[in-house]
Amino acid sequence: MLNFHIITLFPESISAYLSSSILGRAQKNKKISVSFYNPRDYTDDPHRRVDSIPYGGGPGMVLEPVSFLKAAQAAAGRKRNVEFIFFTPSGRQFDNKIAQEYADKATNSKNFHMIMLCGRYEGIDARVPEILNAKPFSIGPYVLSGGELPAAVLVDAISRRLPGVLGDDLSIEERRVASSKVYTRPETLKWKGKEYKVPEVLKSGNHKKIELWRKENSKY
Ligand code: SAM
Repeated sequence: MLNFHIITLFPESISAYLSSSILGRAQKNKKISVSFYNPRDYTDDPHRRVDSIPYGGGPGMVLEPVSFLKAAQAAAGRKRNVEFIFFTPSGRQFDNKIAQEYADKATNSKNFHMIMLCGRYEGIDARVPEILNAKPFSIGPYVLSGGELPAAVLVDAISRRLPGVLGDDLSIEERRVASSKVYTRPETLKWKGKEYKVPEVLKSGNHKKIELWRKENSKY
């Protein structure tokens, strides 16, 4: 089983997504597990504050190291096969190849644990990833408000590659000729006085021609 441990101040921001549809089913079927750890539960601060002003000055607050380290420690326990990950726009660009590598690691070990640290504000104190030897990942060349969406992206992209998570192995996009342009009923869509038809070739039953059309129309 692949166990995701998400360290975040805002678990509610992604918990619904992670328990819906394919990912919800993957949890029920014990292909994956998803647990949340809130650093606020690991601080001694009476107001449960976990951020503080940055050394060197500047706007924005930095997330203090100790509560994140304690939360990471709680997630890791005495487990084996643990990998730490954190999110930053300057990290390694996450892609399908990395997703497959993690899916393979999980498939090849009885229990594999990915502990993901989600930043907020100006980010997490830099000593945390250093101490945990956490790998930095970015999900794209833009800045988000937090690491929760990146965590959900990794959970989704990796989980769908685990055997048995998608009904059919061919559902994984790169294992077949897939097009971004897909159609379903009705054959002729009438919308605001105009008619929009499904491409004839997709109704032809000629698989070679359909594949060729999909190759030629694989992207918008
Ligand atoms: N200056 C910070 C840095 O370079 O990490 C950016 C802080 S950003 C406002 C807040 C948090 O959102 C980051 O700590 C990171 O966890 C997450 N984040 C924002 N954009 C991201 C991206 N493109 N990929 C991965 N994580 C991102």
